[in-house]
Amino acid sequence: MDHSVPQSQPRGIPVLPALFIGHGNPMNTLEVNRYTTAWRELGAVLPRPRAILAISAHWFVPVTAVTAMAHPRTIHDFFGFPAELFAFEYPAPGSPEVAADVADVVGPTWVGLDADSWGLDHGTWSVLAHLFPEADVPVVQLSVHAGEPLAYHLDLGRRLAPLRARGVLVVASGNVVHNLRLVDFSRPDAGIAWAERFDEEVRQVMGNAPASIGDLEQHDDYRLAAPTPDHFLPLAYLAGLADVAGQVTRTAVTGCTYGSLSMTSFVLEGQATGG
Ligand code: ZN
Repeated sequence: MDHSVPQSQPRGIPVLPALFIGHGNPMNTLEVNRYTTAWRELGAVLPRPRAILAISAHWFVPVTAVTAMAHPRTIHDFFGFPAELFAFEYPAPGSPEVAADVADVVGPTWVGLDADSWGLDHGTWSVLAHLFPEADVPVVQLSVHAGEPLAYHLDLGRRLAPLRARGVLVVASGNVVHNLRLVDFSRPDAGIAWAERFDEEVRQVMGNAPASIGDLEQHDDYRLAAPTPDHFLPLAYLAGLADVAGQVTRTAVTGCTYGSLSMTSFVLEGQATGG
C-alpha cells in the first residue's frame, strides 16, 4: 500500500496536462491554418476534463477574478472584424463549483468570484473553438491581474497545481511575442529577427527551467516582445504548474506571424497518477 498520496489525489486519477496557447488573430477562431490545425490535433488527443480553467490575456484587470456563473456569455471583445466573428458563440456551461475550487486552492491569495461581470472572451474561445469544438466541457475563466508582477502570476500558477488532479485542464492563452504596433502584414509567416530570437529564448526556458521565466524580463528583446505584459503573463501560470510538478514543457507548435506575433504553444504533459 502506498500511503503517500494525499486524499485529494486518489490513485489512478490522472494528473491532467496543461497548456499555453499562442492565440494570435481572433480570426483564428474561424480559419484553418497550421496553428489551428495543431490546436485541433492537440484537442483530439487530450483526455476529456471535468472542467477547463482558461487564463486569458484579454481579461487584464486590476484584480484576480474567476468567472463563477452557470452560463458565461461569449464576449466579442474587439472591433473591426467580420460579422461572422461577432456571430460566433461558444456556449460552454460555466461551473460555480469549479470557480469555488479555484478560489479555495489558491488561498490565501484572494480571487474574486465573478457572478455577472465578465464571461468568456476571445482569448479563451478562439482556442477552445478548436481544442473543444463541441463546447460541452464546463469552462471557468481566470483574469490576469494587471497590477501584479510576474512573480505573483508564477506563484498563482504553482497554487493551481492541485486542480490538475481534480480533472481541471488549465489552458493559458496569450502570446510569447505580442507587439501590435510593429505588426508587418507583408510577413504572414515570419517574425522580425528580435521576435524570432525572443521566441527561441522562451522555448529554451520553458523546455529546461520554467521557474526561471522571470529572467526573461531582463532579456534584451523583452520590451519589444511584451510592450505590455498582458499576453506574456499567462505563460507564467504554465511555468508555475511545471515548476511545482518538477516538469518541463514541450512545444505543440512554434512560429511567428506578421513580424511581431509569436504563435508558439506549450504543453505540460499529464501524469499517470496523482502521486
Ligand atoms: Zn490576444
